[in-house]
Amino acid sequence: MAYEKIENKVRDTIKKYNLFSKKDYVLVACSGGKDSTTLAHILKKLGYNINAITINPSIKARESSSKNIENLRKFCKENEIRLYEYSFKEEFGHTLFGINKILKSKGIDMPYCTICGILKRYLLNKKSKELKADKVATGHVLDDEAESVFMNLLRGNIELLSRLGPISGVKKSKKFVPRVKPLYFCKEEEIISYSKKKKFPVAYERCPYAKSSYREIVRNELIDFQRKNKKTNENIIKWFLQILPDIKKEFEKQGEISFCEICEEPSKNKICNACSIITKIR
Ligand code: SF4
Ligand code: ZN
Repeated sequence: MAYEKIENKVRDTIKKYNLFSKKDYVLVACSGGKDSTTLAHILKKLGYNINAITINPSIKARESSSKNIENLRKFCKENEIRLYEYSFKEEFGHTLFGINKILKSKGIDMPYCTICGILKRYLLNKKSKELKADKVATGHVLDDEAESVFMNLLRGNIELLSRLGPISGVKKSKKFVPRVKPLYFCKEEEIISYSKKKKFPVAYERCPYAKSSYREIVRNELIDFQRKNKKTNENIIKWFLQILPDIKKEFEKQGEISFCEICEEPSKNKICNACSIITKIR
């Protein structure tokens, strides 16, 4: 019964926000963690045309990193899902730790999660375009989204707020594979329970670099708020979805989408953030 509740939530979210249809080819961005594994399982069960893609940041400090990939391979094999694998080490020649070290030696102190986020998004778009995906589905749950909303609110970053929602981003371009979040209304605790009951081969510990991120500070604050009011994160999302259409409209008006002069991927600046990092580490 509990299974059905979550599966119905996912199916309703896909329909309500028109995330994709059964004709679309969807790549699920998988990390080997509980959220993306659950997502891949549910989408397959609901009969969508999916495969999986994973971008491994090659995190040396993470003992479970190779275990995660092994788990993901096992899960995909058992569920007849094809898995496309890419890594920072193979694509950029360095691990996340190595990239951070090179940047530091050039006087650039960029947090691990910032580097990881920029390069993962870059590879995800590039590779899913090559694989001719119509959409990329990510495993973001309601609590992740509430953290992102709260974080950008505290930073006063309205532009980043406008890119959130069940469909990421604002402007559409053929060069950009839309990213969607079918677990948008699922709470983290629901996914943990689903994943444990299904006995998915996943590790439940978090990435060691997460501890030093700004997101972690916000996450802990929200956990505190939720001790006083269990519905805190749901209320943040409820409020956010009411104002989101107006914010998106505001940023849609702001001219055509531009492209990076090096990789030709969509970018706000002449050189995208990913190419700016890549040129510095080569
Ligand atoms: Fe990358 Fe940070 Fe996520 Fe770890 S917590 S996988 S470093 S974004
Ligand atoms: Zn670029």
